[in-house]
Amino acid sequence: MIDYKALFKVSYGLYVVCSGSEENGNGYISNTVFQVTSDPPRFATCCNKENHTAGLIRKSGVFSVSVLQIDAGAGTIGTFGYKSGKDTDKLKGMNVRYGETGVPIVINDAIAFLEFRMVETIDVGTHLMFIGELVHAEVLDDEAEPLTYLYYRKVKKGAAPKNAPTYIDKSKLEKAADGKDFAKYECPACGYIYDEEKEGVKFDDLPDDWVCPVCGEEKSEFIKL
Ligand code: FE
Repeated sequence: MIDYKALFKVSYGLYVVCSGSEENGNGYISNTVFQVTSDPPRFATCCNKENHTAGLIRKSGVFSVSVLQIDAGAGTIGTFGYKSGKDTDKLKGMNVRYGETGVPIVINDAIAFLEFRMVETIDVGTHLMFIGELVHAEVLDDEAEPLTYLYYRKVKKGAAPKNAPTYIDKSKLEKAADGKDFAKYECPACGYIYDEEKEGVKFDDLPDDWVCPVCGEEKSEFIKL
């Protein structure tokens, strides 16, 4: 038997992974970035085959990783985590730098960034694992703490989108007993749950300009559970 809650005990960070060039660049939120060797320094990241960025990494052979700070805003996480680069230019309006390889690097909410040249691609089924060799790295903020996936889920109440390697179908998790007079509302973009009982404020009483604290989705888009 698999208790899927055990999977939440594995810790991860949250990053913006970018690829492409100044003319055609894109990025997405990844929680699977990890160092695989120290000499030479090589890192791996997993990307869904459907992701626009996966195609860019294969084509350009370069990618960057921006380490997000703990207070990363809904603007950064919403844009890179819950929108598709096929429909929007995610880098538009962002603070972007271009690395030695020409790869875009997102500076918004970043405390450090790393730049890689691809050495290997491993097909792991739904996802591709890209192995890159470090060519450049910089610290942008030595004081701020990095955002972890646990903090994102517990404090920011964010969930993994469907194409994330760590996505878990809600039906696989035990359903908690619901309160009687309180309702819950779900963000259709990121899966954030607004719980009236926990928040102490009825969803209808929230101001019209209230937005999803995780991804910035509008209040009117929320679905009552
Ligand atoms: Fe949301």
